[in-house]
Amino acid sequence: MPYITPSGKKLVTVIPGDGIGPECVYAAIRIIEATGAPIEWEERHAGERVFKEGLASGVRPDTMESIAKTRVVLKGPLGTPIGYGEKSANVTLRKLYETYANVRPAREFPGVRTPYSGRGIDLVIIRENIEDLYAGIEHMQTPGVAQCLKLISDKGCEKVVRFAFEFARSEGRKSVVAATKSNIMKLTEGMLKRVHERVARDYPDIEAWHLIIDNTAHQLVRAPEQFDVIVTTNMNGDIISDLSSALIGGLGFAPSANIGNEVAIFEAVHGTAPKYAGKNVINPTAVILSAVMMLRHLGEFEAAQLIEDAVIVTLEDGKKLTRDVVGDARAATTTEYTDEIIRNLGRRPINWKRREYRPIQLPQVSPDPVTVVPKTRRTVGVDIFIESGLHSEEIGRSLEDFAAGTKLHLKMISNRGTRVYPPTGAITDNVDHWRCRFIANDGVAAISDADILDLVSRVQQRYRWMHLEKLEEIDGEPGWTKAQGED
Ligand code: NAP
Repeated sequence: MPYITPSGKKLVTVIPGDGIGPECVYAAIRIIEATGAPIEWEERHAGERVFKEGLASGVRPDTMESIAKTRVVLKGPLGTPIGYGEKSANVTLRKLYETYANVRPAREFPGVRTPYSGRGIDLVIIRENIEDLYAGIEHMQTPGVAQCLKLISDKGCEKVVRFAFEFARSEGRKSVVAATKSNIMKLTEGMLKRVHERVARDYPDIEAWHLIIDNTAHQLVRAPEQFDVIVTTNMNGDIISDLSSALIGGLGFAPSANIGNEVAIFEAVHGTAPKYAGKNVINPTAVILSAVMMLRHLGEFEAAQLIEDAVIVTLEDGKKLTRDVVGDARAATTTEYTDEIIRNLGRRPINWKRREYRPIQLPQVSPDPVTVVPKTRRTVGVDIFIESGLHSEEIGRSLEDFAAGTKLHLKMISNRGTRVYPPTGAITDNVDHWRCRFIANDGVAAISDADILDLVSRVQQRYRWMHLEKLEEIDGEPGWTKAQGED
């Protein structure tokens, strides 16, 4: 529910942002005000200037208070200066408010010539926005080996996939494709694929199929018009949504929305483009169209359509366009382009099919952290990750000795995912980071934490270990994957 001001308007937190951000955001605000839409703004700050004030999160407390009140944000891009804050303030904002669905439409615009003009591109990438490698959980495993944890949850997949189907319904779209790397990462990427298959059963009116992400990239370049809605994991979505924006004219035309059940943040896909900051030359369309998405989110469908139509008319007329579209010689300034859109409010475009938009039914998922309760679960082994400059044969033999007399035995050792012990005849170029897989001996139904700690205390007599992974069978299925070359 939006926050209604005493004058009966809907309150929005506006973060002008860094670099070209303020030029884009103030252009969008001027246009919204020209429509007379009942929106009031509360300006707050995040990003570079806040990092420089010494706040490592890049987000001021009064900005957070405002967002907690309004629940709706229009923001410019934020820079992440090296040497001030550790984390991107953008990612922080998205994650602090659990905006789990990043919606990135790419639609062909009349008047914006690209190699794809005339193909009728009209697709939306829905990118999971919280999990995956962008959780940013990284550790140095040895001085020369780094690790980033890719955490994907059933609950996170359920929310974003259900959102994708609901989004498709709200825009009258026909299909939702899941794009994953489930052929390689069967448990993590495979989870989004499996949840997509499960959720699709609730939406028989919408076609659903799966594509491997690399083929999706290929298909997006080859025949992008075949796609409607694509739902994908965080990093895949980051990459293919930038690719998709290039198909329709570049980052100046790529809007986005970060949607959560509590808070929604609307922003361009592009960044702060610092070399253009303050020069009044950039294309504000991406932020303007993000503001259109915001108006629809707020139920202001009429004002949203008015602005979308005026942007398209301005592009169709082609009289006042920015330098990224027409080059320096014929370019209008950002202000002139914005003025032209305002002048065109009320005109209907010729080559633009309007969509019927309906409010999105946001998925309701249990607030309980546990959403999957297995019938059976038992620990049957452990992977101990160690650092060693020895060769695999020597490590293998010594670990077999350490395991003698315990409830576990060494099954294999892998180096960066490939089995190296017992040797397979493969030719690998090893590093000092070894995954040593111990499995319960025959006749041992399950192992306990004490069994694992006993084994670790033996291994650490010779090796530095840096982490452990229990091998658990969940409902009779292994909760781990095999190494390359492991039988
Ligand atoms: P960028 O700011 O998106 O700019 C890359 C290039 O895209 C620009 O040099 C320009 O291309 C073109 N471009 C971007 N926005 C445009 C616009 N509105 N109109 C016309 N052309 C536009 O990417 P970056 O240089 O990699 O990132 C700069 C900073 O932004 C970094 O600090 C990054 O962390 C941050 N960033 C923030 C967000 C966010 O807040 N959501 C997103 C991405 C990046 P030409 O040079 O070809 O003219």
